[in-house]
Amino acid sequence: MTTNFPVSLDEFMAGVVRRNPGELEFHQAVFEVVQDIFVFIRDKEIYHSAQILRRLAEPDRVISFRVCWEDDGGNIRVQRGYRVQNSNAIGPYKGGLRFHRSVNQSILKFLAFEQTFKNSLTGLPMGGAKGGSDFNPKGKSEREIMRFCQSFMTELYRHIGEDTDVPAGDIGVGAREIGYMFGQYKRISNRYVGVLTGKGVDWGGSLVRTEATGYGLLYFVEEMLKYRNEHLEGKRVVISGAGNVALHAAEKAIALGAQVLTVSDSGGFLHDPVGIDSDKIKWLKACKFLGDGDLASYPTTFAGTAYYAEKRPWAIPCDIALPCATQNEISLDDARTLIANGVSLVAEGANMPTHNDAVHLFRDAKILFGPAKAANAGGVAVSGLEMSQNSQRLYWKEEQLHSLLREVMQDIHSRCLRYGLQDDGHVDYSRGANIAGFKKVADAMLAFGV
Ligand code: GLU
Repeated sequence: MTTNFPVSLDEFMAGVVRRNPGELEFHQAVFEVVQDIFVFIRDKEIYHSAQILRRLAEPDRVISFRVCWEDDGGNIRVQRGYRVQNSNAIGPYKGGLRFHRSVNQSILKFLAFEQTFKNSLTGLPMGGAKGGSDFNPKGKSEREIMRFCQSFMTELYRHIGEDTDVPAGDIGVGAREIGYMFGQYKRISNRYVGVLTGKGVDWGGSLVRTEATGYGLLYFVEEMLKYRNEHLEGKRVVISGAGNVALHAAEKAIALGAQVLTVSDSGGFLHDPVGIDSDKIKWLKACKFLGDGDLASYPTTFAGTAYYAEKRPWAIPCDIALPCATQNEISLDDARTLIANGVSLVAEGANMPTHNDAVHLFRDAKILFGPAKAANAGGVAVSGLEMSQNSQRLYWKEEQLHSLLREVMQDIHSRCLRYGLQDDGHVDYSRGANIAGFKKVADAMLAFGV
């Protein structure tokens, strides 16, 4: 029997680059995963002959559509919308929608690819997808956001369903946008079903969903530390971002006894040398979620703190770094600085915030590195629990959801250990997450045939 599987990783990646020209983020995400998978499947002919990797690196479907909406000035505006359905091998397509001016096909293909492995790691029956638009919500009025969301859903609704594809939020899409989109879906389809997650808790949403990504990140960090007989108490934590993930990560880190020194936004970062406390978190939440102010005005409210414009927080000495803003926010130089300043653990709250060469540096330096697909899976995990509640037409209690989230993060940690524990006792979480995430999806694909 002959196999047309490429003989080397380089050859495989050359094919990915050739078939997806200019899609740099997608190439980056595929490379980050397949470098580990190649080692894992070296002697496993079955995955080769079924072309599993080649199939996973080709989304099942890339849907793109035009979204027209009217701004407050009566002008017709045209945006591009997308849904990338990467794999439904282990469950309905599942993944967020991102509204940001940087959104393009490459970014959504990388996110949908990553989501496939992340969702697999949760242990819940969810495939991988991602979608969104280059619509920039910044500076738009409430009505403009509503009209855009409605127009977006007017196209998207035909591609989704509670058993086929269940979108949620991501950057630029929170409870308000989910509300407008869910309202439009309901209006068009005349069906009240769990077709989106991240819904309001009074109309089908789950308790704990809002906090889940940030809290889950900290539960994962706790597990990483516990495995080394360490704990969070007294650790200095540097966080980037000031959105839902970052602020809930900060809140949980503080509750677990850590000292949170920074948060950031697109304009710069905020350094609070004595540590952000729970009152300051309240101020930050009001500032970022209610649009009640500006991160740069924090130092005028809290003495002894500073806002550094146009800078990232990675030069602030810390024990733990939690990138929670967006992709590629830790460069190789940032990684060198973090290591020189003594960082011992990095865990990704955002998706692919660390450049591949920086990841390698952390891995080689035996820094504990929690990759996004494991560390930030708490959000989609509680989305999965929202789907279960919607199917049952029941609401589960807050305590139950907190403990399920914690359990999911502990299970993900165990899955990472299973494939990431090295001979010298160090845990390569990236390798562990990549292989564990891959294996479940790949085995389902083998079961289904071609
Ligand atoms: N956007 C989130 C993620 O990156 C959540 C997706 C979801 O809940 O479906 O995992």
